Amino acid sequence: MRNIDHFIGGGAFASGERHSDVFDPNNGDVQARVRLGGEADLQRAVDAANAALPGWIATNPQRRARVMFKFKELVEKNIDELALLLSSEHGKVIADSKGDVQRGLEVIEFACGIPHALKGEYTQGAGPGIDVFSMRQPLGIVAGITPFNVPAMIPMWMFGVAIACGNAFILKPSERDPSVPVRLAELMKEAGLPDGILQVVQGDKEMVDAILDHPEIKAVSFVGSSDIAHYVYRRGVAAGKRVQAMGGAKNHGIVMPDADLDQVVNDLTGAAFGSAGERCMALPVVVPVGEKTAEALREKLIPAIDRLRVGVSTDAEAHYGPVVNAAHKQRIENYIQMCVDEGGELVVDGRGFTLQGHENGFFIGPTLFDRVQPHFQSYQEEIFGPVLQIVRADSFEEAVRLPSDHQYGNGVAIFTRNGHAAREFAARVNVGMVGINVPIPVPVAYHTFGGWKRSAFGDINQHGMEGVRFWTKTKTVTQRWPDGSPSGENAFVIPTMG
Ligand code: NAD
Repeated sequence: MRNIDHFIGGGAFASGERHSDVFDPNNGDVQARVRLGGEADLQRAVDAANAALPGWIATNPQRRARVMFKFKELVEKNIDELALLLSSEHGKVIADSKGDVQRGLEVIEFACGIPHALKGEYTQGAGPGIDVFSMRQPLGIVAGITPFNVPAMIPMWMFGVAIACGNAFILKPSERDPSVPVRLAELMKEAGLPDGILQVVQGDKEMVDAILDHPEIKAVSFVGSSDIAHYVYRRGVAAGKRVQAMGGAKNHGIVMPDADLDQVVNDLTGAAFGSAGERCMALPVVVPVGEKTAEALREKLIPAIDRLRVGVSTDAEAHYGPVVNAAHKQRIENYIQMCVDEGGELVVDGRGFTLQGHENGFFIGPTLFDRVQPHFQSYQEEIFGPVLQIVRADSFEEAVRLPSDHQYGNGVAIFTRNGHAAREFAARVNVGMVGINVPIPVPVAYHTFGGWKRSAFGDINQHGMEGVRFWTKTKTVTQRWPDGSPSGENAFVIPTMG
């Protein structure tokens, strides 16, 4: 049995007896065991980070950027191996696994420009003989806690920017697919990153709590489900840390009567069922506006769903693979039953799907519900599986209200040919990321990513310049170089520049 250990101080480190199983979702077998660490392992990582930090902080930003350039090159060289490893633990198909790596790499590309991004502000002559300038300094030791569903992209979102800014980063990946994060740390070492600047500690709640309580860890970035995000936020902030904690989602796709329905169906099937719906930016709710739109959309959706191919994650023809584990499969199937019990019309039922030769794999067929009502619990909560719910709206106003009133506010999309409606929608909807004829509006790396309401706790987004702000603190210097003649100013009055 393969063991997955911590990556501390530049190499694998094993300690403790607690383990968790890592499955192969394609056949349900346990393929590895990941170590579950705690306080003592974390302390070891903190000690290694402390030893490495002064040298890394003193490394000028251009040299830090060169490590990122080299890392990008290495990841590109190893992308096939990384995608296969990712796919084998997560279950997403190979092309999608490559996308997971690629979207993370785009943040590394942003981090290659860190010398520019770290430049402070400067005012010459803010007062007589006085200049003011600011600098962005690293926080020190920082940490990231990441979810199972994007095991390459989200760690890179965090450590790419944090490390380029001069911090030492400790990553606690999901225990469900922990191998790719370790491989990324190995590649960073190969790229020239000093030992102790990127480390991976494996674990569950015990390790998360150790991170949140550790006095030397200055900031924590979390991505995962909302209740845990909220918990991490509260506990981290109470310990005096800077915390950003991204949570769950229930993204809506609004379909206006003038939308190009063939395009919508094409976009929607990918956005609802791609990665088996295990995406925080998936579109699990579609809101057609008007009965005519609803009927036409439904008529086109059913055959498109029938054409979807569910297969093992290495099947190049498959649109999506299995879900991550048996517990998650059960949870999704419970939600399907809940929606039936609440009165939803089950149009396509994906339960009971099996694949010959992979009968124990964690597969669920695509599932479609119509006439779902806003008061259903199955609508209000995140299912995180290949389940699409149609919620019919009578008007544009109702379509704006549905995602705006929902507890989650990660992403939303509107499909229309009417620029005015799109503009109104984008301005008014109470959601953090909006797509206009774009089903999964994940912002590019040099913009920032972050939802609203229960989709994010804390007020600074991931990556882009918000990432730079999150991983640095600002120091502002007011300087005067007197020429020696007495100024005669009254030092008892608050200084003004007037
Ligand atoms: P999760 O909340 O179960 O786990 C996330 C992390 O928290 C993992 O590292 C896990 O080990 C840790 N954790 C689990 N239970 C814990 C506990 N009781 N106390 C402390 N830490 C704990 O999430 P997941 O199932 O791995 O990921 C899916 C969720 O993440 C979905 O809700 C999805 O929407 C969300 N997500 C959000 C975003 C975003 O940017 N908003 C992006 C990706 C995923």
